[in-house]
Parts: sequence; structure tokens; C-alpha cells
Amino acid sequence: MVGKKAIGIDLGTTYSCVAVWQHEQVEIIPNEQGNRTTPSCVSFNEVGRLVGESAKNQMNMNPTNTVYDAKRLIGRRFNDTKLQEDMKLWPFKVIKGTNDIPKIVVDYNGEKEFFAEEISSMVLVKLKQVAEAYLGETVTDAVITVPAYFDDSQRQATIDAGLAAGLNVLQIINEPTAAAITYGFDMKTDITHDTNVLIFDLGGGTLDVSIVTINNNGKITVKAVTGDTHLGGQDFDNAMVEHFMMQFNQKHKTDMSVNIKAMGRLRVGCEKAKRALSSTTEITIEIDVLHEGIDFSMEITRAKFEDLNEDLFSKCIQLVEKCLVDAEMNKTEVNEVVLVGGSTRIPKIQELLSDFFNGKELSKNIQSDEAVAYGAAVLTAKLSGENSQKVKNLVLLDVVPLSLGVSIRDGSSSVIIKRNSPIPVKQERIYVTSVDNQSAITFDVYQGERSRAIDNDWLGKFQVAVPVEVKGKSRVNVVFEVDVNGILNCSAEELTSGLKKKIRISNDKQRLSKEEIEKMMKDAEKYKLDDEENIKKLLAHNVLEEYIYDVKAKIKSIGSIDNTKIPKEELEKMENAITSANQILDLHKLVDVDNYEKTLNELEKVCVPIIGQLV
Ligand code: ADP
Ligand code: MG
Repeated sequence: MVGKKAIGIDLGTTYSCVAVWQHEQVEIIPNEQGNRTTPSCVSFNEVGRLVGESAKNQMNMNPTNTVYDAKRLIGRRFNDTKLQEDMKLWPFKVIKGTNDIPKIVVDYNGEKEFFAEEISSMVLVKLKQVAEAYLGETVTDAVITVPAYFDDSQRQATIDAGLAAGLNVLQIINEPTAAAITYGFDMKTDITHDTNVLIFDLGGGTLDVSIVTINNNGKITVKAVTGDTHLGGQDFDNAMVEHFMMQFNQKHKTDMSVNIKAMGRLRVGCEKAKRALSSTTEITIEIDVLHEGIDFSMEITRAKFEDLNEDLFSKCIQLVEKCLVDAEMNKTEVNEVVLVGGSTRIPKIQELLSDFFNGKELSKNIQSDEAVAYGAAVLTAKLSGENSQKVKNLVLLDVVPLSLGVSIRDGSSSVIIKRNSPIPVKQERIYVTSVDNQSAITFDVYQGERSRAIDNDWLGKFQVAVPVEVKGKSRVNVVFEVDVNGILNCSAEELTSGLKKKIRISNDKQRLSKEEIEKMMKDAEKYKLDDEENIKKLLAHNVLEEYIYDVKAKIKSIGSIDNTKIPKEELEKMENAITSANQILDLHKLVDVDNYEKTLNELEKVCVPIIGQLV
């Protein structure tokens, strides 16, 4: 009997990818545009909601209602300093919700608020639909990947996003571990020794560094993980945006930072330029009418780009060093350095890495954009008992990314589970009352490496009642268990009575309630209906946009050969037609398909005869 297929999802900060195990192999599933990755982007306007490619295309036109980077918000508190920094650059609005949970505010037939989980779940629904269209059957089970360095709340929130998308999350797996599976799958089987692999995953929002050992049977043991959930391509874009904004402001004595739309357009331009600089050494960014009617045109060299990001790039290498220390490994013991994530295409990053490993050649055997989803799909096969020998052989031993403990009386952190402990793991510790006549002990649970508990990430608190006694007499045994998803479960036993209790610390905290998740699921159904009509309008909008672009390019190229070639009044006629077409294009709201088509026809009627005579 053929069971229902499960999918592997790499839910990225900027791009997501979905894969499935079928016909004895992994297949990466293309979206409806035929692309193998899909932007993790959702855009809202008065007529509907768009997800993926079409949403990303809205970034320029509708920046305040086009949401990306949900992964940078997920499981974080509003007052988080990193989040506050990011907020300054996001064109969309983020507010503080109840329990300090951040909420994204968009104009979607009136002001609507969304949790980051909700935005992520919309991306997940999209990927689920992409998979269903490809497989011709409904899909409910999935393995979803997260950065290895995600903490407990970020993992919980990712599971919630899956639930809200109607997915049964079989397992959460670390992205670099998934990439290691992919790498191991590709490895020759005649190797007899263990291979130490350093996985360097630099994406849009995060850097993950992992060291794993793969043995020739397919057993993958994670030795150490480290990373930064706030270091990636977006940060490199930001550095460029700031640079150009300052130059522009200085040159034109203005402040474009107040112009959200202009900032959004500059960001899009910078991201494109950054990509180009991976293969060319110099590029000019040109943006028409960027701010206060001024056209933007500035040049940037690869060297300048590297200079702007020098600190961030060296931080990447420092994290590699840290990971080696944690794994108790010398860099000469690393057999392979594997690159994952879009930002590893940056030549300087490759150069720094290779230099760090004494000129070692970096492994580019696996597809850097797809490796994570690929590995997740292999894991779905493993979990559903697939018969293939290679899948059967796969054994994963992952680790806890950050230490888990409780605060004790002097404010220091008492670690119960040390970071990089292999999971699943169970550890316990006994705590005693610290003053006379205490009737209960309260435990604050933290995750992180700092010695002062308060400097770490607070996960929640729980209380255990104890017999009233002199201090030090009543005792509580606290048990911490981290499951294969990297998620913490706690329990405690009061030792005099022997009474045990299970503790759900996360309930106190930012996790969404069951009702909130159910509401998200209901809303998802409602939104689906709006989406289809909107896509048709958007396609018509884009056709018009491209046509205008082509006409402008034609006029420019004719003018550049001979600027007297186009008679003045003819040029004016065309320019007027372009202006009125642009007005339709720039309307905040998408108009009817007919309206776009009519506008295009009018523009065509004016321009074709004129240009036709000149070329
Ligand atoms: P994530 O998993 O975080 O979503 P990806 O691995 O998909 O990220 O990488 C996306 C990032 O890679 C983006 O910041 C994008 O700008 C960057 N990127 C993609 N291609 C290139 C390139 N050729 N040069 C530099 N950066 C690139
Ligand atoms: Mg990624």
C-alpha cells in the first residue's frame, strides 16, 4: 500500500523550498512559476492577498503591506533589541501585542493585525499547495527545518505556524543537519574513515555553523552548532541601503529615510546589486524618481561592498572558530567545508573561509539553495519507514543549541542541560529551599550561555509547593528533557511527598493559545478565496509595467544614438502617454484587468507608429 506522502519544508527567512521523497529519490518541487524556491513573502491589498513570487513583486508598489522576514520575528518578544533594530528598516508596521508578542499591521480592507506565525503559516500553506498540485493528492504531514540556533520559543512558534497551516509537523529538524543528510547521501560509500564536515549556512537572515561527523554507514553525529539568528544577506543589504541613503541625502540635501516607498525601492535595488557583485566587480544602481522627483543613479564596486560589510563578514569567521572550539576539533581535522544558503555565493565569504582553512577548497557538491529541503525530505522517508537501504541506514544524532537552566537565589544561572548535549536528552538536578519557612520554590527557566540568568532568554517560570521547614530541608528534583525537535519539556518532584508534576513552561510565555491557532486556520480558508482574483489583476499589472519599461528603453536607445531623431512633439506625445499609464500602474489599489489592458492598448496606439518609423 502506498501511504500518504509527507513533504520536507525549508521555511527560510527570504526563500523557502519544498521537497518530497518519491520513486526512491528526493524531488524538489517547483512552484507554479517553475522556480524551485519560493519567496517567503506575503502581500496584502484591498482586493486580496498574495503569497510567494507574486507577493515579492509587490514590494515596490505596495511596500507597507508587503511582509517579509517573518522568521526574524517568530518566537521573539517585541522588546528584543534585535527586533527593534530590524523594525527601523522594515517598511511594514510592527506593534506590541499582548504578552509582548509582536504583531504585524497591514491595511487589508481596513487595519489588520497578524502574528509572525500567521505570516509563516501563509507561506507554509502556499508550499503545501505547490506540493499538492505537483503530487495530485492532499498533503498533511511535513518535516520543517529551523536554524540550529533557534531557541525553544522560536521552535515552538514554528510548530504553531505549521499547525495553523493545517500541517501535522512530524519533526522539526535543524537546517545544517538537514544539509548534512544531503551531503551524506551524496557521499561515496567506499570511505572507511569518519568524515568531519563543517556546514556553513549563510542565508538571508541567519548564519548557522555546524560540525558533524558522518560515518560510512550513514550515521550523522552533530558535534557542535553555533550561529547567529541575526546575521545574513539582509544585513548586507542593510549596510548598502544605509550607505546609499547617506550619499543621496548629502548630495541632494534631503532626508529620504522618511519616504518608506523610496527606502523599499532602494532596498530592492541594493539586493539585486549585491547579487550582481558576486559575479561582477562593479555595478550601477539606477532607480527612476526615487525621492522628491530625483532619479537615483550611483555606482558601487565589489571592494566597497566588502568594505561596508567587513565587520559582519569577520563575525561569520569568528563563529566558525567558536564552533571548532565547541566541537573540540582542530581546523586541520575538518575534512570538508560545505556551503549552504544564498549568501555563500559572495566571493569574499568564500575567500575568508578558504583562507581560514589554510587555502582549503570548499565543497560545492550540494545545491546550496535546495540542500536543506532535500535533507528534510529524506527524513520524511525515514520517518515513514521507507525501504531504501540508504534511508534505512540514516541515523541522526543532533544536539541542544543553547544551555538550559534555572536561576538560583544569587541570580546566577544553574545549568541543567549543557549546550551541545546530544538529543534527546534528560537531565535532573535537586534544588533546596533557601530561606526558613518557605512554602514553595519558584523556578525561572532560561536558555543561553551567560552566567547571570537574567542576561539569558527567559522561557517562563513554574512553582512547586514544599513542606514548610527550616531552610535547606525541603527539596525539589527538577527534570529537563529535550526532545528530538529540540524542544524542552520540564517536570518536577517534591521529594518529601514524592509528588510529581509536569510543567508546561511555554504556556506562560509568548506561545499562541489554541484558540488563536484555530482562528488562524479559519482565516486561512477565508483568504484563499480572495487570492485567485487578485492574481489575475496582478498579472495584467505586470504586463503593463513591462511594456512601459520596454517603451522607455526603446526611446532611450534611439535617443542615445541620435538625440534629434525623435521630433519634439512626438516625444512629448509618448511621454504623456507613459505618464498616464504610470498613473494607473502606481495606484495604491490594483484595478480591473480590463482597465490595465485598455491602458496598455492606448499606450501601444501612441508609441508603435512613432517608434516604428524611427527604427
Ligand atoms: P534563507 O534560507 O535565509 O531564506 P537563502 O539561503 O535562500 O536564505 O538565501 C537568501 C539570501 O541569499 C538573500 O539575502 C539573497 O540576497 C542572497 N543571495 C542570493 N544569491 C546571491 C548571490 N549571487 N550573491 C550574494 N547573495 C545572494
Ligand atoms: Mg536557508
